[in-house]
Amino acid sequence: MTGKSENLSAGGLRLSPTTPLDEGSEGTATVTFASGTRITVPVHVVWRQTSGSNSEYGLRFDRLEGEDRVALLDAVYAQPGKTRDSEQFDALPGAHTAASEPISTLSPSHHAYYLRLIHRIEKTHSLSLADTDRLLFAVLQQGRDLASTLIEMKLTPYDKLESYLGDIYGIPYANLNMLKPDASILDIIPESVAISQNVVPIQRIAGNYIVAMADPLDLPARDIVHLRTKGQFELRFGFLKDVEKAIKAVYQGASIHSADMLIDEATAAGKTIELYKEVQEVADLETLRRLSDATPIVSLVDSILRSAVEERASDIHLEPVDDCIIVRFRLDGILHEMRTIPRNLLASVVSRIKIMARLDITERHVPQDGRIAMRYSGKDYELRIACIPTVFGEKLVVRLLEKNPTFKTLRSIGFSERNYQLFAPLVRRPYGMILFCGPTGSGKSTTLFACIQEIHDGTTNIMTVEDPVEYRVRGINHVELNPRRDLTFPTVLRSILRCDPDVIYVGEIRDRETADVAVRAALTGHLLFSTLHTNSAIQAITRLVDIGVEGHLIGASLIGVVGQRLIRNVCGWCRETYAVPSIEANLLRDVLGVEEVPKRLTRGRGCAHCHNTGYYGRSAVHEVVVVDEELRHRIGTSGSDATPLLDHLRKTDFQDLRADAVTRVIDGETTVQEVVRVTV
Ligand SMILES: [Zn+2]
Repeated sequence: MTGKSENLSAGGLRLSPTTPLDEGSEGTATVTFASGTRITVPVHVVWRQTSGSNSEYGLRFDRLEGEDRVALLDAVYAQPGKTRDSEQFDALPGAHTAASEPISTLSPSHHAYYLRLIHRIEKTHSLSLADTDRLLFAVLQQGRDLASTLIEMKLTPYDKLESYLGDIYGIPYANLNMLKPDASILDIIPESVAISQNVVPIQRIAGNYIVAMADPLDLPARDIVHLRTKGQFELRFGFLKDVEKAIKAVYQGASIHSADMLIDEATAAGKTIELYKEVQEVADLETLRRLSDATPIVSLVDSILRSAVEERASDIHLEPVDDCIIVRFRLDGILHEMRTIPRNLLASVVSRIKIMARLDITERHVPQDGRIAMRYSGKDYELRIACIPTVFGEKLVVRLLEKNPTFKTLRSIGFSERNYQLFAPLVRRPYGMILFCGPTGSGKSTTLFACIQEIHDGTTNIMTVEDPVEYRVRGINHVELNPRRDLTFPTVLRSILRCDPDVIYVGEIRDRETADVAVRAALTGHLLFSTLHTNSAIQAITRLVDIGVEGHLIGASLIGVVGQRLIRNVCGWCRETYAVPSIEANLLRDVLGVEEVPKRLTRGRGCAHCHNTGYYGRSAVHEVVVVDEELRHRIGTSGSDATPLLDHLRKTDFQDLRADAVTRVIDGETTVQEVVRVTV
């Protein structure tokens, strides 16, 4: 039997064999790695997932202990990038081969470091085999953060984390995300030593240098620290990635907060050679080019772009005001002021970005837009640049898009179980119209691409018309609007219909003409997805009536509508529970309709990870309207009146956005304030 495995962990294996297996069947598997290592493990099939003609299985290794366990651990984790070996499985009926494809994002040195560290944790805290395996898998294969995984796995509560980590080496743990190293004591350890030994001086207390070290067992590194500080030091333990980040931030000015050095350099250079004085109305190309090519400006712009990627920002705003330029990042949907830059650097910084985006740097009075390709930390990004003249000068907005993101599957998009059960069958219908609604930035395209991915198996012709094309997916025909060449939603849609499509995605329905063609396409055997900018799913239906589509045509073509919002999650680093005050309890009861208000809820205290907001990351909440016979009839007859539609929904399983969001509050994933902000 042959197959392909996607995940291999010490606990089991995900496998797609060519011959079907039975759930529950047992046997022995012989796993052979290219390195020659061979182990024999009892296995059983624990789950099976079928999509189309392919089936995936989860095989669990049973009773894997002692030598065999170590051999497998070594093979799976010890050699990053080398686990794409082929393995032979010959226990279950016949023999099959598998090639594992780990999604490890760790570099070899990080890989080895975290492997060592986790084994040390296993020993110090007597972890069970299963816990060690889960930890190894999460950190080494999935590239997840070790500390937050420890908390998620409930190996330690958040408030005991520091002492838990301190016990590993018997040395206090230093959270370098919170402690900013004191730049004035950096001289004690030169940058090259810090980088090669993975140590960073943090501060000086009572004559002693406090030095954080990634591996406190590294004796040569300890000796060097001893030598450099003449024995006046205390050690702290910090994670390798945090030590490296701290080194970058303090020595190399990679963080946006340490861009001051670059700014000092830039302004100092400006004073001496008068390069950076405000460029007047008529700026000649030569001057602007010289300004923007100066090394400090190049580094400053790079450090802003890099730190935006590191902070997971979706947009960067550079806003001139009368006395400075404000740099703001959009994090989880909300703008945060990150720092300011001296006003006299405006022309140079803007020109630098414009040159990168191949825009006209002499034109400063008309809006322009362009793109920059950037590679950072092994990932490709596309930066969309837009500049617009404001009364204070040119404002610049940079949108960051990851170029080849791994799209979420429909299962992992964050639908509640009931919404998933309602929605998933719609995507497998052969034809009809499915609409997504919600404001800009509510995650509609992520959900849409999850749907398309569900359908995209190489047997269908999927065509899109978008404004602009956001993500490019191999095998999908994306068409971008270009009104100057008469590529508009209705014209492109008509052309698409002549190209034998099965599935069509129309970026947005905003006029009668597009709506008419879309409805007709859905009625003539195509599965059509589109979006509308309405607040609720029901409003999407009445909006179509308002723009002039006949009710009975909408009823006949529409199969479902999904309303969506993104709500911020409580930060996993600083989450805490609190007694619900009466004002909040009343709000939950009277406004949000919660019948039994819990005594305690969850919130984030605010920490360095979440910029003191208490939130980190977002998840989607939904409302799903499935068009059944009764609703179809009512849409056909009620015109733009939403009441009869809502009356019917109340009699069904329908749960609106707010109700979905409230369940997330009860589950401790988000807060009441966030639900109010997003849905009220
Ligand atoms: Zn936090």
